[in-house]
Amino acid sequence: MPSYAAPEYVLKRPRTRIVCTLGPATATDEKIDELIFAGMSVARLNLSHGSPEEHAETIARVRSGAERNGVAVGILADLPGPKHRLGPAPDSESGTEIVLEPGQRYVLRDGKGASTEEIGYVHPPGFVSSTPVGANILIADGAIRLSAVEARRDEIECEVAIGGTIQSDKAVSAPGHASNISYLTDETGAALAEAAAERVDYVGISYIRSAGDVRLVRDFFAARGFDPQLIAKIELAESMDNLDAIIDASDGVMVARGDLGVELPMALVPGSQKKIIRRANHVGKVVITATQMLESMVTTPVPTRAEVTDVANAVLDGTDAVMLSAETSIGQHPAVATAVMAEIALEAEKSLNREEIAERRRTGVQGLDSAIADAAVSTADRVGAKVILAFTESGSTAARVAGFRPGVPIIVITPDTAVGRGLALRWGVIVITAPRPNSIDEMFRLGSSVALDSGLVKKRERAVAVIGVPIGVHGSTNLLRVIDLPEPESGR
Ligand code: PEP
Repeated sequence: MPSYAAPEYVLKRPRTRIVCTLGPATATDEKIDELIFAGMSVARLNLSHGSPEEHAETIARVRSGAERNGVAVGILADLPGPKHRLGPAPDSESGTEIVLEPGQRYVLRDGKGASTEEIGYVHPPGFVSSTPVGANILIADGAIRLSAVEARRDEIECEVAIGGTIQSDKAVSAPGHASNISYLTDETGAALAEAAAERVDYVGISYIRSAGDVRLVRDFFAARGFDPQLIAKIELAESMDNLDAIIDASDGVMVARGDLGVELPMALVPGSQKKIIRRANHVGKVVITATQMLESMVTTPVPTRAEVTDVANAVLDGTDAVMLSAETSIGQHPAVATAVMAEIALEAEKSLNREEIAERRRTGVQGLDSAIADAAVSTADRVGAKVILAFTESGSTAARVAGFRPGVPIIVITPDTAVGRGLALRWGVIVITAPRPNSIDEMFRLGSSVALDSGLVKKRERAVAVIGVPIGVHGSTNLLRVIDLPEPESGR
């Protein structure tokens, strides 16, 4: 039988997955390799920045890095979402910059024109009608703050609370008053088309307001024969209000703490993080905790103690994945930040209350598949198995096992290389690609070889296997077996 060993750096990774946002700081093959060796499971790109050609180049670079290193790296593309934006504004070189001073009046008007000293045009239309007098208005994520003082037919007069320079295309929002424009703005429609053309693995749905937004995105892709995993970014007050329905409609969620801390009072972010993680654990959907996790590492090679504690607390809260943003996209130490994140997660996992998370999951599921997954995890604990082997066609068996937070690695054995990318956000999963066995006996023997080749388990130790019979049929996990290694050549 061929050897099925995974690279050693993959075996040493934390169970918690690491998402790295790519950007100018990581735009070479060498940098991608460094991120993979340090622990990146998913590469994220933000479709709001850069051109389609640049995105295609980044995606190609990640795919070739994954292939070169023989590992699965998922690609997550974030959509712009239904944002209102200002039109063009003069830049600093023109000498005619528009600088708002605190206390002055400034008008925001529906339309696509260029901003002037008196009026900022906001598109797509609809911002004025969804923003009541008294609302706080944020430009460029809060760099400039206005207060709405008088509403007229297609414009709203504001008083400047925090001044600054008006720049082209900056986002305009009114926290607590989500826009009612369609999710599929021109900008988001173009990004969706790009994500479909590139066949990315995950799509981050920014500024999601309701489960209806998820369905619109899913329908858009379905019409193009594409079915990526949809990750709902929870970053508005409305996304918190509709949390359960959004999680049900999505494949996973992101605690998007950057915008959440702008849209809600910042002090509500920690409690929101815990609530989102608990709800996602309950239904077995992946959850990513994001933003400013190691922010100081954008410029320094060592994190603050508060950042270290923040990453560890996200792991202890039960997150599946942690994310780096500016640290790896524009930071000076992208690989070091990734390695530091892995080190913190590995240590935190030693004190993770696995049973509490398994219990959350237990109260949120029914069905044979989940019963087998739950039983595999508790059986592995009780018989001292060193690994759980999940034979899977679609990845769903392994995803279910991960939801119950086993104390040992989950080795996924699959004939389909795409399954690895689809499981890249799943806690504790190691993927090995191998041809589909023709019989149950062959499957046990393959599992035995894969387990021993991994180096995670030795002869005379045990593995727990979960399998769907008949072989090759999706979603039929129905068999649990303890294998005393090695499985005899002749079978049983
Ligand atoms: C966030 O707001 O925390 C986030 C992840 O979204 P983005 O980085 O796209 O602003």
